[in-house]
Amino acid sequence: MAMRISANFHSKCIECEEEWEKGEKIYWDPDTKNKKGKSPTCITYHCYQAQGGADISEESPSGKEDLTFVVPLETAAFEYKVKTVEQILDTLISRAHKKTDELYPNLDKKSNTYGMIRNAFIDHYISIYTHVT
Ligand SMILES: [Zn+2]
Repeated sequence: MAMRISANFHSKCIECEEEWEKGEKIYWDPDTKNKKGKSPTCITYHCYQAQGGADISEESPSGKEDLTFVVPLETAAFEYKVKTVEQILDTLISRAHKKTDELYPNLDKKSNTYGMIRNAFIDHYISIYTHVT
């Protein structure tokens, strides 16, 4: 359900790059995907709508906010974290894949050896990544 929620982490819009602080009200539609494959999220309603976010007809009645938003806020943070991790993993895996192809161009891609070398590269990339971030 599209809603206006209190941001629970400092972030920015992937479209207009407008930033928001933790606790600021942002628009969020978890049921829709914008053209970047994300749930439309922005601090400005105009941009949120431009991303395909559904209409939010009413603000939450004051006083009920805690009750209403406990779960969606956690969901938003969780969804965000999972997506970030997945994107990082995808990048690292595809680099490892490329590296293996580069170094062992004649190796059968279906072989266990190829898989083992690629997995070793994935582990290396992940460990390098965790050291540089
Ligand atoms: Zn925006």
